[in-house]
This record gives sequence, structure tokens and C-alpha cells, in this order.
Amino acid sequence: MQYLSTRGGISPISFTQAVMMGLAEDGGLLLPRTIPRIGSDTFASWQQLSYPELAFEIMSRFIDDIPGSDLRNIINASYASFTSEQVTPLVHHGDLHILELFHGPTLAFKDVALQFLGNLFEYMLKKNKSVLNIIGATSGDTGSAAIYGVRGKQNINIFILHPHKRVSAVQERQMTTVLDANVFNIAIDGSFDDGQSIVKRIFNDIEFKNKYHLGAINSINWARVLAQVVYYVYSCIHVATHEKDSSVDFAIPTGNFGDIFAGYIAKKILPPGTIRQLVLATNDNDILSRFVNKGDYSLGDVKITSSPSMDIQAASNFERYLYYLMDSDPNKTKALMEEFAENGRIDLSGSQDLIKRDFVAVAVSEEQVANTIADFYQKYGYILDPHTAVGVKAAQKFKTGGVPIVCLATAHPAKFGDVVEKAINVPLEMPESIIGIIDKEARCELMAAEKNAIQNYIAERALQPAA
Ligand SMILES: *Cc1c(COP(=O)(O)O)cnc(C)c1O
Repeated sequence: MQYLSTRGGISPISFTQAVMMGLAEDGGLLLPRTIPRIGSDTFASWQQLSYPELAFEIMSRFIDDIPGSDLRNIINASYASFTSEQVTPLVHHGDLHILELFHGPTLAFKDVALQFLGNLFEYMLKKNKSVLNIIGATSGDTGSAAIYGVRGKQNINIFILHPHKRVSAVQERQMTTVLDANVFNIAIDGSFDDGQSIVKRIFNDIEFKNKYHLGAINSINWARVLAQVVYYVYSCIHVATHEKDSSVDFAIPTGNFGDIFAGYIAKKILPPGTIRQLVLATNDNDILSRFVNKGDYSLGDVKITSSPSMDIQAASNFERYLYYLMDSDPNKTKALMEEFAENGRIDLSGSQDLIKRDFVAVAVSEEQVANTIADFYQKYGYILDPHTAVGVKAAQKFKTGGVPIVCLATAHPAKFGDVVEKAINVPLEMPESIIGIIDKEARCELMAAEKNAIQNYIAERALQPAA
């Protein structure tokens, strides 16, 4: 399988090259040249597969430059770190199916992709005798999932900037209590945006980037999308054993459009009609809902909500969908993304019919989030995290007829304990991995939000390939 850029500016590359490149060198995003299709007979034959076996079946259709036995080992190692044997178990409450994606080491769905990406990086670097110094800024969730993805791995160092005292205590500890020698936490005296801007400026220093083998781990990496396709297919198989309808809808709490884009790919590879509808759910940061409902993709100010991992305006994976919406035309995609960069908005109202064939969307208010958490607990004794509640509210709105709907549960409620306890008025039970985390030994460098100082800190600790 070859990979291309949405902006058409690179010659086709392999899966390995696409993973190592992250963002395409022409500024676009990487996509497989063709989308493999799964026939009904093949799909039917997957009923009994374990999660890692299913992951192998799906991923191997997109990867032809890693031997099968190696890919199996990478997948098995990645999902052995989950505390549920099913990896992403489905639970059933009322007329909803809830797909629990939070049984990985940091209790959020990003582990599903980042456990895999960490092992993939280690494998590729060993093969190419190379090294990688990962740099990222986080507002909370991504940083810990990335750190847990690569902790203790050979040939990789990771440097994560977080805003000092502006992430939750649990989030901070999930990062800083990882004491492996390849993990460097930097608390900056500033905001998340300051951190993000420093990281961007360091990456823009191309000479520095190449000299120190810098890499990113954000949600634009194709391997992350691919890993997320698996649990959509897994859900379709396991919901079918509960319901007679063979079609399934999904409700997806959305920020960077990564998770829902994986659903879009799953819909394309599966036999037609297997996935019927993708329900896109946003919080008060509703740019993507406006896009689906009105064709209006325009930036607003970032609003702070109880679902902070979705407090995003420009969605980093949006360009991938735009490319398909433009009928795989890289020139049109490039022109639109340039227009967006210049004006902060693009008008896609002319494509409304097509967009509505792929998605329905709803923006969920803060009050609705709190009420949904409270109601769901009262009715079913099941506790939703605020991100999951955004999706559940949307599912309740769009559930139609007998078609089963799966809500993606993207974080464990204990990760956002304050909001959740306030909604249900009951103290939460803490999962094992965060009990006592506040008192554990931690390591973190506190630094001013100054690009040069941070760049020097990284340079002094960056890995270099053996001569
Ligand atoms: C990252 C995240 C999301 C949003 O996922 P996207 O792929 O950015 O749309 C939703 N919920 C939680 C808990 C997250 O960490």
C-alpha cells in the first residue's frame, strides 16, 4: 500500500515512511492511495477473532512493508497493556451500547492508538538504526498517553511540555510519575498555547529539527487513525450478536476529527450498510457541527468546557475528510486549506448534500452534559465522563427506529472526577492506576516559557544515532 498527501506534493511513499513522516512534507496529511474493501464473507469470518487478531486483519490490509509475524507481535504487545481482556469492551444500558475505550494505561481512548504507535516507532527505529526525539505540548490527555506509549523504549526520547498548575492534579501526576530515563517532563510557566507555540517554533527550525531527529506524536499520524479503525469494526461484530439489525450507528465526541475520521474509514472498508450513520458530537466548540449542519467551517474563540480534550477549533484531521469530499482532488483540497489558513473560514455549503450523507451533527451545551451524566447515573447506575456524555446526548437525540447505536466512551470518569462528582453527587471510585498517584515520586523540570532555553534543554538531552 502506498501513501499520498492530500495536497499532492509528494511522490508515493510506504507505510513506514508515512509513519515516520507524520505530517506530509508538503504540509498536507497522508492517506492510503486506495481504500481496501472487506467482502461480506470475509467480514462474516471475523466473528470469533480476538481484538488483536482483528487488528491484524484490518491493519495488514493497509501495511505491506512489515512482515506479518512482526506486525502481530507489535499489535499483541500494544494491547497486552490494557486491563480488559476484550481491550475495548461493549456495555449495554437502555437502548444504547457504550464502547469503553478507556482501559489503557492512562484511562483515555488515546491509549488505543499511542500504545500501538510507540511500539511501531521502536520497531522501525531499530530496523533503520535511527533515533527519534519526540517533542509535544499537551493540555492534559495526549501528553500522558504519548509518554506511556514510549516509556522505556529504545532509541526514543520524549519531551512533553505542559502548562504548570494548569492541568488537573491527576493529569500532571500521570505524566510526571513516569520515571523512565527516556521521559522528560517540562512544566512551563505559561499557558497551553505558549507551549504549543514553542513546540511549533522549534519544529520550524528545520536545521535543528534534522540535526536532532525531532518527531511529533500528535493526532495527524496515519498510524493513529488506523489503530482506531479497529474498534469500529469490533463494535459492528459484537453489536450484531445482541441485535438482529445488521446496521450500526455510532455517536462520537469530537475535537480534532481523528476518532470520527477513523469511523469514516471503517464505514468505507466494511460491506455497504454495515455502518449506517456517524453522529458527530461537539461541545460548545462547535465548528465541526456548524460544518456538517450548514457547510460553514469557520474559526471561533476556544471556549473552556468540562470536556477539555474537545476544546479545539481548527480540527487537525479535517483535511483528510475534505480531500474525499473534494473527490480526492489534491489541488482543490490545497486551495481550500490555503483559503482557510488565510481567512479562518471556508464555505462548503455547496457540498451539503454529500456531507449529510456521511454525518449528522449536534453541539451539546455544558448544562446538557451535566444533566446527561446525572440522568444516566440515576437510570442505569453507570457513570459517564463529560466527553462521553457529549456523545451520549447526541445519540439520544439521533437514535432512530431499531438501528443500534454505539456511543464511544473516550475517558474513564475518574479522570474528570470533579465535574462528574458534582453532577452525580456521589464520590467516585478510583481505578487502581491512579490510587496513590498524588504521593508517588515525580520528576519534572520547571522552566520559563522561553523557546531558546527549552530548545537548549532538549539539545543537551536529545538522542543521537550511533556513529
Ligand atoms: C482526544 C479526546 C477526544 C477527541 O478526539 P478527537 O480524535 O480529537 O476528535 C475526546 N475525548 C477524549 C477523552 C479525548 O482525550
